[in-house]
Amino acid sequence: MTATVTCPFCSLLCDDLSVRASGSGLTVSANACQRARQGFGLPAPATEARIAGVVAPLERAVTRAAQLLQKSRKALLGGLGTDVNGLRAALRLAERTDAALWHEQEPYARQNLKALQSRGGIMTTLGEVKNRADTVLFIGNNVTDNHPRFIERCINPAHALFAGKHRKLGYLGKPGRTELADCEGHELVTLTDQGNGLANHLALLRAALTQPQWLAAAELPAPKRNKLKQLVDMVGNAQYGALVWSPAALPQDQADLIIHACLDLLRDLNVKQRFAGLSLGGNNGGVSWQSVATWQTGFPAGVNFTNGRPSANGVQAADADCLLWVSGFNRQPPPALAVPTIILSPHQAGASAADVYLPTGVPGIDHGGNLFRTDGVIALPLQKLRDRGAPSAAEVIEQIVERL
Ligand code: SF4
Repeated sequence: MTATVTCPFCSLLCDDLSVRASGSGLTVSANACQRARQGFGLPAPATEARIAGVVAPLERAVTRAAQLLQKSRKALLGGLGTDVNGLRAALRLAERTDAALWHEQEPYARQNLKALQSRGGIMTTLGEVKNRADTVLFIGNNVTDNHPRFIERCINPAHALFAGKHRKLGYLGKPGRTELADCEGHELVTLTDQGNGLANHLALLRAALTQPQWLAAAELPAPKRNKLKQLVDMVGNAQYGALVWSPAALPQDQADLIIHACLDLLRDLNVKQRFAGLSLGGNNGGVSWQSVATWQTGFPAGVNFTNGRPSANGVQAADADCLLWVSGFNRQPPPALAVPTIILSPHQAGASAADVYLPTGVPGIDHGGNLFRTDGVIALPLQKLRDRGAPSAAEVIEQIVERL
């Protein structure tokens, strides 16, 4: 049987994949990137729970997990790679155990949040970029690496409402090889940074856009001046422009600076024209986590129930006295901490060393659910594609809560 499904393996949440289910597993027959093919092609999840590496009945393993959490004083619920229901359940568990929560994408989300809090932001959506953007300026190196079909779906769509077939693309940073191939047919200007020059180049572009006379007088090598001039013309003439970055793809020692500079540039451009930002990030349920945490606690990151009520104080993983690790989308094992560790995952990475391993299904494959897309404006439904008896993380967490 073939179904059209939403892919959960990055926060683009492409909703056009054709997936065939057969006795031998799931096969993507159309519209998938390599990451999706790997994700859907992974073997069916483990269904055996473990206590201290030894196979045990699920009920006993759940009870053991509840005991460890009940005994802890500073539990950390980490990873949080799950869907909206799993995240809501994790918050309930944290409230009952005075735990802190930490999504593995939080460090990148915080970079955007800090900049948005101090600057404000003019942001756009995937749909607006696809349908309206005549000019797109990428900031960073291999910006779409973690969102492999962004160019296919938003820059080269089969149909777009207002944008023409040929767009003007700028790249401040180093494009990936696949990106360069995908951008063929569009006008592309790249200004590749040498070493740590990305923040510097962004500052130069902003200066050249806001004070055109500066560029003529600036002491710059001719090739760089020419590229800057091309980018200034491209950006300055846009009818609807988009600035696209991915916090994870930025040099991390400059990421805060660069995102602040992106928002400053957007503010400058919008004095005379329409230009908006799009941040690609929040894979593995990261965008959903920001939404769910904000609805439930008022805080989008660093949520901590240590004092019996939610705060945004965060917690250092090294300070935790018990770790519950949720990894529903990939094989990422928990960080090695010398504390009791409970793993909820379809994959057994780290399971033999954990105190408790609780098998769960992959959201969008073993159970239905919802995830928020990278632009944060819509949640897409996920489908159940096979029935191997793997429970969702939400179901397992609720069982732990019942035993507290
Ligand atoms: S780009 Fe992301 S959502 Fe789209 S098919 Fe690839 S992994 Fe899935």
